Amino acid sequence: MTLSAVVFDLDNSLYPETDYLLGVLRYFGQQYDIDVAPALAAYRPDMRNPGSDILGHLLTLAGCMTPQNHQRLFSLYTSAPLTLALYPQAEPLLKALRSQGVKLGVLTNGIVAVQRNKVASLGLDAWVDGVCYARELGAEKEKPHPEAFSRCCAMLGVPAEQALMVGDDWNNDIQGAQAVGMQTFWLEHDNGRSLAEMKMWLNQHA
Ligand SMILES: [Mg+2]
Repeated sequence: MTLSAVVFDLDNSLYPETDYLLGVLRYFGQQYDIDVAPALAAYRPDMRNPGSDILGHLLTLAGCMTPQNHQRLFSLYTSAPLTLALYPQAEPLLKALRSQGVKLGVLTNGIVAVQRNKVASLGLDAWVDGVCYARELGAEKEKPHPEAFSRCCAMLGVPAEQALMVGDDWNNDIQGAQAVGMQTFWLEHDNGRSLAEMKMWLNQHA
């Protein structure tokens, strides 16, 4: 196959998103001298349901849920100056692809200020050619809307058929990308399909 670009989803594809959420909570605790340890200890990933107020839930677990603290925590969710790491397999993979002349992009849904702060926290701008924030097109055009993928391929200057979409969300990342003719690799973490597996898969299909 001709591979001119690889587009990665961000959250739980290039790094574990829990690191960001709990990193923001820790930072909030430091800034306002609040003990957030009970919330850190009680947190479970299944608390994150679409539409649920995870920030409010964490504050309740920490015993400090007030409208003011909620506003403070949300504000830090868009701006906390964190330093986070990519998945261990990500850096060698991005390096290898770059050295092969493959363009690299990120395509992410979600609140733009939050996603921008995640990208900054990960130092990801240095690793990729461009980041596409789908919400900038309008909430209705986020993944799996075809326009999100088309815009990202256009940003990288490659036809969709020569781009590979890599993501952990079957509906948003994989089906959406297939609909515009992109190649896809599903990071099915539960079944051991990680970035390391993807590298092996690429070597076999190149
Ligand atoms: Mg994801």
